[in-house]
Amino acid sequence: MEEKRDFASDQMKHWKGQRSSQQPDQLTTGAGVPVDDKLNILTAGKRGPLLVQDVIFTDEMAHFDRERIPERVVHAKGAGAFGYFEVTHDITKYCKAKVFEEIGKRTPIAIRFSTVAGESGSADTVRDPRGFAVKFYTDEGNWDLTGNNTPIFFIRDPLLFPSFIHSQKRNPQTHLKDADMVWDFWSLRPESLHQVSFLFSDRGIPDGHRHMNGYGSHTFKLVNAKGEAVYCKFHYKTDQGIKNLPVEEAGRLAQEDPDYGLRDLFNAISSGNYPSWTFYIQVMSFEEAASVSFNPFDLTKVWPHKDYPLIPVGKLVLNRNPKNYFAEVEQLAFDPSNMPPGIEPSPDKMLQGRLFAYPDTHRHRLGPNYLQIPVNCPYRTRVANYQRDGPMCMGDNQGGAPNYYPNSFGAPQDYPPAKQHHFWVSGDVQRYHDEEDNVSQVRTFYNKVLNEKQRQHLCENIAGHLKNAQLFIQKKAVKNFFDVDSDYGSRVQALLDKYNAEEKKQGIHTYTQSTPHLSAKEKSNL
Ligand code: NDP
Repeated sequence: MEEKRDFASDQMKHWKGQRSSQQPDQLTTGAGVPVDDKLNILTAGKRGPLLVQDVIFTDEMAHFDRERIPERVVHAKGAGAFGYFEVTHDITKYCKAKVFEEIGKRTPIAIRFSTVAGESGSADTVRDPRGFAVKFYTDEGNWDLTGNNTPIFFIRDPLLFPSFIHSQKRNPQTHLKDADMVWDFWSLRPESLHQVSFLFSDRGIPDGHRHMNGYGSHTFKLVNAKGEAVYCKFHYKTDQGIKNLPVEEAGRLAQEDPDYGLRDLFNAISSGNYPSWTFYIQVMSFEEAASVSFNPFDLTKVWPHKDYPLIPVGKLVLNRNPKNYFAEVEQLAFDPSNMPPGIEPSPDKMLQGRLFAYPDTHRHRLGPNYLQIPVNCPYRTRVANYQRDGPMCMGDNQGGAPNYYPNSFGAPQDYPPAKQHHFWVSGDVQRYHDEEDNVSQVRTFYNKVLNEKQRQHLCENIAGHLKNAQLFIQKKAVKNFFDVDSDYGSRVQALLDKYNAEEKKQGIHTYTQSTPHLSAKEKSNL
């Protein structure tokens, strides 16, 4: 029994063992006042009611009532850890950011892995993209690469994001996950085909968080010391090797060990088995971006490796577990608009949308001073600005320094070397209709990247989920798979035909006949 317990299960034992003194600390209230008895409430008489003057109780209870902060709308279930980024290759010809300034330089990092659609207590082993967000605590302030385990995403326009997420989360009436909502949205938005095909491939259920790749996903801009810029993508490939969970195994774990990914990461780091990822960039010149056959700022597309080879840069290593989950992981806030000089946004619409959405979320979840929370604080530099006050202002609020600008008293001044790359844009202002190619890269993925067994798994995984949607939605989805490749469409259709015939035999759809509140049109859709 003893040997079977892993490090995570024995955390309490380890905590006790690490204490310098085996004597417990003196118990206090939140205000540090000693507490004489925390087992018995203060009452008037042995069986009497409690007294309002039992401030030990009110202090405890009132704080408990406020323990929860809003759950993240997406990426609510996560695991985090800390470590460093080390430069192994010189990319200063592309980027002046100090994080890349010399080979061997190490910068502290935090990484949070997550699922996307589930709530904070949901299972780790579900089919879902994984968040892979990296915070670099650089000498020039924080750099947050808020990426995923895929280089692409379901949509390319941030205006669709709230609807997309609604469709993947819970039905507004039943509060159940709803296959109609999921597949209705996907089938109406064919730009999702690429990511849907990744999601239902074997890599859609990674074996924990250590055995998957990460990607900055968006297109960014790198600027060198001469002010020359290129567009760039970030990739971090797992040094542990890709490992995925078979569907049945993932289902078993979701029941038996829903925190499988969290536990695996915690135990690996606790035992000194530090996970690492090799960090690469792809670069594209502005001239290439103007003439390349696809839109390089479209988040549903990759940049082909043969045209834009991976350039090695460094290593991400995780070697420390959080000391406290809430303080260091639940409050860990990533914001893609945190970019040190030398790293800038590209015109990628999804990135531009996230530059607003992420800090907006943190101000709501954690408050306007969320950057003062130790895990978010840019502690390798000194914050000097004219922001003051607000809830939970934790430091000295910049003391007596002037709180207005300009001023004549030597308070923080502009720093011209941080000037951004200037660039030219033109075009009529309008809501441009989406006319991108949604299928070519998916076709390459289906035919060239996947082998026969993986193609079969992909189609089985899709059909196994799509069968839960209404027939008219199934048809719309299958048409999109046909648009990619007739083999893709016909395999999914054949599997659906099989499932639908089985369900018909079992009478699963017969409820429609006895559902009087449905219109004839709704019934015919079922
Ligand atoms: P390559 O033919 O050079 O390499 C194929 C890529 O696919 C590798 O990066 C591989 O990752 C990745 N891959 C393999 N299986 C899966 C899967 N089930 N889900 C997601 N990714 C997978 O790629 P190209 O650049 O020529 O692009 C061909 C197609 O590969 C693209 O259309 C795209 O669908 C896919 N792809 C491309 C990526 C890119 O950035 N260019 C990245 C990921 C996928 P690994 O090397 O870790 O095995």
